[in-house]
Amino acid sequence: MSLWMHASFIDGRWQPATDMNAVIEVVDPGNGETLGTLPDSDTSHMQQAVEAAVTAFDDWRQSAVGQRADLLLAWYQGMQDNREALARLMTREQGKPIAEARGEVDYAASFLRWFAEEARRTCGATIPPEDPTVAIGTLKEPMGVAAIITPWNFPLAMITRKVGAALAAGCTAVVKPASETPFSALALARLAENSGAPPGVVNVVTGSGRRFAEVVCTDDRVRNLSFTGSTHVGRSLLAQAADTVKASSMELGGNAPFIVCEDVDIDVAVEAAIAAKFQTSGQDCVAANRIFVHADIYDAFVTRFVSRMNAMPVGHGLDEANDIGPLIHADAVADMQALVDDGRARGARILGRDQAEAPGPGYFMPQAIVDFTPDMRIATEESFGPVAAITTFDDDNRVIAAANDTIYGLASYVFTHDDSRIRAFLRGLDFGMVGINTMDITGPHVPFGGVKQSGLGREGGHVGIEEYLETKYYCIGNAHR
Ligand code: NAP
Repeated sequence: MSLWMHASFIDGRWQPATDMNAVIEVVDPGNGETLGTLPDSDTSHMQQAVEAAVTAFDDWRQSAVGQRADLLLAWYQGMQDNREALARLMTREQGKPIAEARGEVDYAASFLRWFAEEARRTCGATIPPEDPTVAIGTLKEPMGVAAIITPWNFPLAMITRKVGAALAAGCTAVVKPASETPFSALALARLAENSGAPPGVVNVVTGSGRRFAEVVCTDDRVRNLSFTGSTHVGRSLLAQAADTVKASSMELGGNAPFIVCEDVDIDVAVEAAIAAKFQTSGQDCVAANRIFVHADIYDAFVTRFVSRMNAMPVGHGLDEANDIGPLIHADAVADMQALVDDGRARGARILGRDQAEAPGPGYFMPQAIVDFTPDMRIATEESFGPVAAITTFDDDNRVIAAANDTIYGLASYVFTHDDSRIRAFLRGLDFGMVGINTMDITGPHVPFGGVKQSGLGREGGHVGIEEYLETKYYCIGNAHR
C-alpha cells in the first residue's frame, strides 16, 4: 500500500485538485527536490469537507465507544505496521533526522492508542440533590465537528493528538495540515481509511490555512477549532472563532528556559540541554531557547556544550549519521543568521562552526549566543532553529524572574538536586510544563499545553478528550407523580 497520496481526503474519497493551476508544490527541504503537488483546495472543496463531517457526525456521535476504540486501535496498528514508510516520508518532506522521524511515528501512534482507551472513560457525574426525590447529574457529550489546523514541525503527532481525542469523544474532524508537510497528513488519512473509518469521520484538506479558517470560522456547525502553530496566527484564529463562539484549543509558541544549578553533574545537564535545544533541528515549541547556568559552573558548561554542539553532524535527514537536518525554508536560515548577528552586535560571544561548512543552502550550522542579555532578540523571540542562547545567573529568584520575562509559557526545565530549590522553581515558573532533571517531558499521558500567550487548553493526558466534550446537566424531577 502506497502512503504517498496526491489528493485531499473528503467524505471517504480522494479528491484531486480540480484546477491544475491551483496546486501546492511540496519540496524536500534537504535538497530542494520536488516531492509532488497537491490541491490548493478552493473554498468549495473545504466546504465539502465540512459538509461531510457534519453529515457523518449524526451517526458517529451515536456510535458505541467500543467502535470508536476499535477504529483508533486499528489506526494505531496501521501506523506501527508502516512505521518505516511513514518515517521516511516525514523525513523527506519535513527534513528531521530519520531516527527522530521514527520516534515521532511512535509518539503520534501512541495518541491513537491512548484515546482508544480514554474513549471508555468519558464519565459524567451524579450530584447529591438538595431534594432527595430528584436525580441530578451530568453527561459528557461530543461537541460536534472539529476543525483542526496543524503545523509542519511535528506533521503526524500534532494531528493524532487532536484527532484521536476528537474521534474518541464522538466528534468528527476536518484537518488542514501545514502546506509544507501535507503528505504526512494524507498518509495518516490513508491509514484511517484502511482501518475502516466511516466516510466523513476524518477528512484532510490541503491548501491555504487562511482560506480554511474563513470557511470553518463562518460555519456555525463547526463547534470546535483546534490549532497548533504560531502565536500570531493563533491570535487571529481566536478572533475569527469568536463570531460563531467556537470552543477553541490553542497550542502556540514557546520560549523555554533551561535552568542549570551548580549542584548537578555538568555532563548530564549538557546532554539534556543539547537534546532539548537541537531536536527537530531546534524547530520545536518546547526547545530550550534560553539556557541559564549558575555562575559556579558556567565556563565548564559552555565549553562542554559548545564542544558537544560542534560534534553534531549536519546533513540530510535520511543519512542515519546526521543529528541536525535542514531548516524548513531558506528564509529560516536567514532568520537564524539575523538572530546571531543581533546577538553579536549587542555584545554576545558567538561560538560554533563556520556557515561555510553547511552542506547546502537549506542548512544552518548550529551556533551558541553566549552571555546573551535581555535586550537581544534571542531573549524574547522563539528562535525555532539550531541557535542556543546561554547566560549565567547567581540568584534563584532573579533567574525565575528572567525566565518568566516572556509572553510565552509553554515548557521550562530545571536541573538541581536540592529539594527546596525544586519546590521554589516549581512554584515560581509561569509555564504550563516544568521538567525537573529531565528534558524528556512528552508522551500520550501528558496534559500538554501552555499558559500566557502559549495557548489555551491541554492536549493528551486524561484532560485531552475534554476539549471535545460538552457537559450536559440533567435534573430528573418528580412532577409526574
Ligand atoms: P504557523 O505559521 O502558525 O502555521 C501553522 C498552521 O496554520 C499551518 O497549517 C498554516 O497553513 C496555518 N496558517 C498560517 N497562517 C494562517 C492564517 N492566517 N489563518 C489560518 N491558518 C493559518 O506555524 P508553523 O510555522 O507551521 O509552526 C511553528 C509554530 O508552531 C511555532 O510557533 C511553534 O512553537 C508552534 N508549535 C506549537 C506547539 C504546541 O504544542 N504548543 C507544537 C508545535 C508547534 P498554511 O501555511 O499551509 O496556509
